[in-house]
Amino acid sequence: MAGTGLFAEILDGDVYKYYADGEWKKSSSAKTVAIINPTTRKTQYKVQVKLLMVLKIACTQEEVNKVMESAKTAQKSWAKTPLWKRAELLHKAAAILKEHKAPIAECLVKEIAKPAKDAVTEVVRSGDLVSYTAEEGVRILGEGKFLVSDSFPGNERTKYCLTSKIPLGVILAIPPFNYPVNLAVSKIAPALIAGNSLVLKPPTQGAVSALHMVHCFHLAGFPKGIISCVTGKGSEIGDFLTMHPGVNCISFTGGDTGIAISKKAGMVPLQMELGGKDACIVLEDADLDLVAANIIKGGFSYSGQRCTAVKVVLVMESVADVLVDKVKAKIAKLTVGPPEDDCDITPVVSESSANFIEGLVKDAKEKGATFCQEYKRDGNLIWPLLLDNVRPDMRIAWEEPFGPVLPVIRINSIEEGIHHCNASNFVHATLQGCVFTKDVNKAILISDAMETGTVQINSAPARGPDHFPFQGLKDSGIGSQGVTNSINMMTKIKSTVINLPTPSYTMG
Ligand code: NAP
Repeated sequence: MAGTGLFAEILDGDVYKYYADGEWKKSSSAKTVAIINPTTRKTQYKVQVKLLMVLKIACTQEEVNKVMESAKTAQKSWAKTPLWKRAELLHKAAAILKEHKAPIAECLVKEIAKPAKDAVTEVVRSGDLVSYTAEEGVRILGEGKFLVSDSFPGNERTKYCLTSKIPLGVILAIPPFNYPVNLAVSKIAPALIAGNSLVLKPPTQGAVSALHMVHCFHLAGFPKGIISCVTGKGSEIGDFLTMHPGVNCISFTGGDTGIAISKKAGMVPLQMELGGKDACIVLEDADLDLVAANIIKGGFSYSGQRCTAVKVVLVMESVADVLVDKVKAKIAKLTVGPPEDDCDITPVVSESSANFIEGLVKDAKEKGATFCQEYKRDGNLIWPLLLDNVRPDMRIAWEEPFGPVLPVIRINSIEEGIHHCNASNFVHATLQGCVFTKDVNKAILISDAMETGTVQINSAPARGPDHFPFQGLKDSGIGSQGVTNSINMMTKIKSTVINLPTPSYTMG
């Protein structure tokens, strides 16, 4: 059980503590934030909130300042800790994380209604990501460059330049609710292997899973201050954290919040992974069974609450009827219910999210979309729904529902599909996309034309494997993630130049 045995030290009664300076602490604010179970819609957990400017409690602001101060001090000696030792600790944390996959997965089920098997997969994948990052860090941070000066016009060979990668300092990591463990470690591991310290602000729904994950790093024996976890609502503590002068880099994953953060943050590197309206373009020659299977997996896994979920199908009219029938048949087989039963479709994360999805469905109904199933909702649980004959005047054609509702737009040419994908009525069409065709030449031309960070050919969009580069264009993000890119992003190049005297004689 989460919160018992090994994990008992992170609880104070029924309230989760925060983690700073190598210790589990009670906030002096004594204010708690309730975490609502999406399935029961009742309070499942409570986490401590660091009260900041909103309540004008100076001491609590000081607590956050102390976290930053301790992170800054700890980072100095961490940067000098041998690379192999940093890697060793990360491997240890990865092993502890995988060992405790069951209690952490249980939190994911209760906090964010992740289906039971997927919850375990998220924790195991996170352990693998931490280990892979440790190894990749040893590979790429162990190498520098050596340059000589006489390759640039006007120079003799009198300067030798040595470059290496150095850490940035304190990294602020803010992941979203849908992968609170995996998207946290995808920031923590590269930050730590590169010699940075890290302050985590977990999503409110997902905070308890994240605290348990941080506890695994605590058990691995990282020096105090290298990793901290500050809980509280983003709307209350977000600005204070993202504008804090002690932060040297922000790695954020989430929705439009990221756009606001990028406008407020100071002159620090930003890694922004924002939303996507991932398009699936289907040509006449596509293997329609393969497409249907990918639409189900891509569009409805975790009830569509994935940045890389298929969020609009753009199918050639000539094959649309057949494809829609195949998808309908597969939707009929999806199980709908509680995450504990490992159902395919589980409640969406919050009531406001369910209301938002319902708004998109009502708008589509009023404007004449074809409902392939009856619209059904019970609390936060929304039954899977395919909307055919969606037109560009409907909100669902452009907006990210983040739920189990998928629009189908029938197109008459490839250009029409690409045009929809690249049109900027809404900002987030630019994360990933996919194209289904047996003609690889055509697929590559379409990939080149789609303004998205990644295009998958003959498969649904996906973030993994985690060492692949992953990025959004335009308002879908800044920078690129994936293990190697994240390590590089959280470092800076340092040069040391050895200047030799101008030779007055010739050697040899
Ligand atoms: P969100 O509402 O933007 O929240 C993301 C994180 O930001 C949460 O930890 C949230 O904390 C925090 N936050 C809220 N207000 C803040 C503020 N003013 N300053 C700093 N932090 C603040 O997103 P979400 O609903 O959790 O996640 C869904 C979105 O994430 C979707 O749009 C999805 O496409 C996107 N996403 C993108 C990727 C990618 O890699 N591109 C991956 C996964 C998800 P609280 O929970 O306390 O509010």
